[in-house]
Amino acid sequence: MKEFSYPSFDLTGKKALVTGGSKGIGLAIAAGLANAGAKVLITGRDETVLQEVADELSGRNLDVSWKVADVTSKQAVVELFEFIDANFGGIDILVNNAGMNIRKPLVEVEEQDWDKVIGTNLKGIFLVGQQAAKRMIDQKSGCIINISSIMGQVGNPLQTSYAASKGGINQLTKVWAAELAEHNIRVNALAPAYIKTPMTEPFLQDPERLEKLVGRTLLKRMGEAEEMIGPALFFASGASSYVTGQILYVDGGWTAN
Ligand code: NDP
Repeated sequence: MKEFSYPSFDLTGKKALVTGGSKGIGLAIAAGLANAGAKVLITGRDETVLQEVADELSGRNLDVSWKVADVTSKQAVVELFEFIDANFGGIDILVNNAGMNIRKPLVEVEEQDWDKVIGTNLKGIFLVGQQAAKRMIDQKSGCIINISSIMGQVGNPLQTSYAASKGGINQLTKVWAAELAEHNIRVNALAPAYIKTPMTEPFLQDPERLEKLVGRTLLKRMGEAEEMIGPALFFASGASSYVTGQILYVDGGWTAN
């Protein structure tokens, strides 16, 4: 019998960028990648929060540093990658996570709401992904994980701009996977349902709304941010070496319901 090459989730020697790594899902994934051995750079817009979080994780012997970068600004994203080239030693793994939501009925969505959500979630993913891909093409390897949402797949009220952005991310994921495969770059997406983070804090304060939401899942509960770590490690590591262009629903079974 052939000797099997068993998969490893070890990320020692890998350099990872996690946008929106100061809170919630991004923070959990950043800690998870660092715990697997990666050197991790987290970004966000708030210097104080980033510094506190990176200090705390470094105190737990995780290799995590930070840089302020607003993903809606091309200039800021270009400067982020110049910093990565000069000080971080390159990029092997991108977790394209920074995102936000403005929940409103269609008829109340203002133009600036649309621009803000699409600018952060879709344009931001594009700007960061483009810069990362340039480096990964040059080094002939890399892995991109886009953070989508079940809202990119299901039709839920109050999600006009958010659902459009996340549906766009699903398509970007497939297009980038098709374009970048020849350069040994894999591109996948994680699509969570409701995960406990600062973004979903308001739901926890509203038991009726919360019950309605978790009732849509098979597991009948919200997810914890650390439950995103395993799926992220799968995509970031050699364990998923034959997986690209996929959207993995981390949703307690919502989309199977
Ligand atoms: P949080 O609001 O808890 O965290 C968002 C992170 O993104 C923060 O670090 C924030 O930092 C950063 N961020 C927001 N806007 C920008 C910007 N313009 N430039 C740079 N960084 C930015 O959200 P979650 O952790 O809940 O969400 C993370 C991702 O997961 C998002 O893409 C979201 O759409 C997705 N998601 C979340 C779900 C959930 O239930 N929580 C469900 C499905 C998808 P700062 O504000 O300091 O800039």
